Amino acid sequence: MYTLTNPATGDLVERIPNSTDEEVQDAIERVHRGFSSWRDRPVSERAAIVARAAELFAERSDELAETMTLEMGKRINEGRGEVGVVVDIFTYYAENAAALLADEPLTLKSGPAVIVKQPIGALLGVMPWNFPCYQVARFVAPNLVLGNTILLKHASICPRSAAAIERVLHDAGVPTDAYVNIYASSRQIPAVLADPRIQGVSLTGSEPAGISVATEAGKHLKKTVLELGGSDPLIVLDSADLDETVRNVATARMRNCGQSCNAPKRMIVLADLYDDFVDKLSKHVSDYFQPGDPADPATRLPPLASVAAADEVAGQIATAVSQGATLRAGGHRVEGPGAFLEATVLTDVTPGMDAYHEEIFGPVVVVFRAADEDEAVRIANDSPFGLGASVWGTDQARMRRVAERIESGMVYLNRAGGSVADLPFGGIKRSGIGRELGAAGIEEFMNRKAIRL
Ligand code: NDP
Repeated sequence: MYTLTNPATGDLVERIPNSTDEEVQDAIERVHRGFSSWRDRPVSERAAIVARAAELFAERSDELAETMTLEMGKRINEGRGEVGVVVDIFTYYAENAAALLADEPLTLKSGPAVIVKQPIGALLGVMPWNFPCYQVARFVAPNLVLGNTILLKHASICPRSAAAIERVLHDAGVPTDAYVNIYASSRQIPAVLADPRIQGVSLTGSEPAGISVATEAGKHLKKTVLELGGSDPLIVLDSADLDETVRNVATARMRNCGQSCNAPKRMIVLADLYDDFVDKLSKHVSDYFQPGDPADPATRLPPLASVAAADEVAGQIATAVSQGATLRAGGHRVEGPGAFLEATVLTDVTPGMDAYHEEIFGPVVVVFRAADEDEAVRIANDSPFGLGASVWGTDQARMRRVAERIESGMVYLNRAGGSVADLPFGGIKRSGIGRELGAAGIEEFMNRKAIRL
């Protein structure tokens, strides 16, 4: 059952029954058949349709943002911002389609050859609720431009976003058999992955979901892209203006109520700044990030996506405190209806505690003290995850040196979180497999066919 509950009020809004097995089979057949005509369209035609989709996303920004606010509690302005990034992604792949898909001539020792770039077929996308539009865009825009067709299973709390995205794409001219939503349960996914008409799968979400999908895909030798969790380190080496640094890092952590895979969840501060940093951060987080209605543009801290998510994060905080962590700000569920949780700062988290290695998917900062640069790097790398990271300071060469020592797929200097259309996004270690966005993002489900001339 796809169940829409407003996380700001706890009100049940809508229930949509799961697709039947027959409907899933019918959807697979549609995207399988749709592939042969979609792949044969000239790249310029597919790019024009993807460009039109960008325009429609921009036109429908308010409607999409309101839907996300209702379904998963995103602040209305952040929803509009998310749709802006979606527009950038569709525009990037439309504008760069010809260059990204151009033949690559090679001169071998034995003579000439060429790499031609072709789609591989119908793909399954399994997408999460935290960025209902952006996560879909990262997978869909490059693959539609390339000529793959798509079966999309969205998170079961986001049925309206799923439907709204499908409408945008069909209205833009994506054939109804090149992009098809299924309201499948996760129990129906193994049969989809076993089906020879499906050539690959991209999942963004939790580790258990990623393991389950990759295991099933592996049994059938299907290509997999996984974008999973993260517990990104943020290293503060020094600061010309500590108040400003604190405001910036807090904003990066609290974006989307802390429910971003690449949010800076572990802040590692060199010893000479640590006490001031923790004091300023704790005060700022308590004063500035007050919970409120996500539909009100003045709100700074919305609810989490569901009561279950808020309870889980509150439980992680309570466990950390019971294991010896110090609560410096927040830490509790907000009384009353809805999935609200106070913005929280924890310190004194040590390697024996759950919070040291776990991802905390909510408005919680954990701050660590590091004696020097080497210790900061050691703490940063002492994590099962390796998605993103950031380094903050005033000395570019030093920040760059530290960036190169961090085990992650991405490092940003003096900024954290977020993503842009033309920069590859993805992680190492338990954060996932493969890359999205940029040139790398269109190559994951591509047949780079070598032709020897
Ligand atoms: P899930 O991973 O359960 O959900 C993400 C998507 O995967 C949804 O469409 C979900 O479907 C689907 N899914 C879940 N299990 C399976 C499965 N076994 N087979 C196929 N599809 C599956 O995320 P949660 O909502 O449970 O969030 C829990 C944690 O996941 C978060 O705390 C965070 O750590 C991580 N997460 C990371 C995200 C990221 O951006 N990397 C995004 C969201 C979550 P359905 O909704 O029907 O269960």
